[in-house]
Amino acid sequence: MKILVTGGAGYIGGTVAGLLIEKGHKAVVFDNLGHGRRDLLPAGVEFIEGELADRRALETIFVSARNENQPFDGVLHFAALIEAGESMVRPEVFFRNNTASTLSLLEAMLACGPKQLVFSSTAAVYGEPESIPIQEDARLVPANPYGQSKLLVEQMLAWLNRIHGLRYASLRYFNVAGAPEGPEGVTRGEAHEPETHLIPLVLQVPLGRRDRIMIFGDDYDTPDGTCIRDYIHIKDLAQAHILAMEKKRDTASHYNLGNGAGYSVKEVIEATRRITGHAIPAKVGARRPGDPPALVGSAEKIKRELDWRPQYPDLESIIQSAWEWHQRHPGGYQD
Ligand code: UDP
Repeated sequence: MKILVTGGAGYIGGTVAGLLIEKGHKAVVFDNLGHGRRDLLPAGVEFIEGELADRRALETIFVSARNENQPFDGVLHFAALIEAGESMVRPEVFFRNNTASTLSLLEAMLACGPKQLVFSSTAAVYGEPESIPIQEDARLVPANPYGQSKLLVEQMLAWLNRIHGLRYASLRYFNVAGAPEGPEGVTRGEAHEPETHLIPLVLQVPLGRRDRIMIFGDDYDTPDGTCIRDYIHIKDLAQAHILAMEKKRDTASHYNLGNGAGYSVKEVIEATRRITGHAIPAKVGARRPGDPPALVGSAEKIKRELDWRPQYPDLESIIQSAWEWHQRHPGGYQD
């Protein structure tokens, strides 16, 4: 397959691009390098710098590929802003970047591109679920503009499928973490600037980069009062994209991508203490606006339909791989 990977210079997109190459496919990364890193692109990947909102640029890429008799088979679409907390402060930026820009990509695909897309969606489309584990047909009521910006894309996709036959699989990620092992040691871990995600933030304490971790609220209606999330290893997540692209060529489908097991913020901190051997002081602070108390997804559908088999389904191995990467890169991508 020849695949266009938008946002392929980032943590998730870059890992998937690398896996495509490993499996003998062609990957062309399209990224504005706003958060991505060109020097971390996997070997063998072709790179094009550009803005997703630039429909003409995307059309040129699709048309040139066709003229060279090497058309694209599909698009893996990752390019997006991801901080749910930030979306509660600047929602318009998320609707512009995640929703409006995606429409440019979809228009370009309809005009002259491949008619097959795998979309990087999120469990945030569910908002506060009525029951756990969440099934794909649960109510979709996002609790923050980030989730809403992704749900709007899913809704556009559903109509484009119905009216134009655009085929897609929307993968609703739960909490992605960990680092893929690379041939020369791991090169791409989870580190954002600024960092907002729990596991890399907790690891900054044993790394000496922060004194303690702040727990955002311990008065939620959960067993220990802190929020519960379903963590998934980046490598398992990446595999699912390849399966969705290879196997699901005929329909419009939505899949949860998690492990079906929930861990509280306190449990994540406790597991990190065991793995790192560090005391990791923690302090309870205010709730972060827009955080649902518990997000745990059933992964039965993707296991059943795409034969997805996670290799790292437990929290410990996810944190362990993240810890190994962060020890090698204690300053994140600054090192
Ligand atoms: N969290 C926390 N302290 C932090 C960062 C995150 O308590 O410094 C909590 C956050 O409120 C949420 C969970 O950890 O309940 C996971 O947050 P993250 O930002 O990693 O992912 P999200 O679930 O928001 O996508």
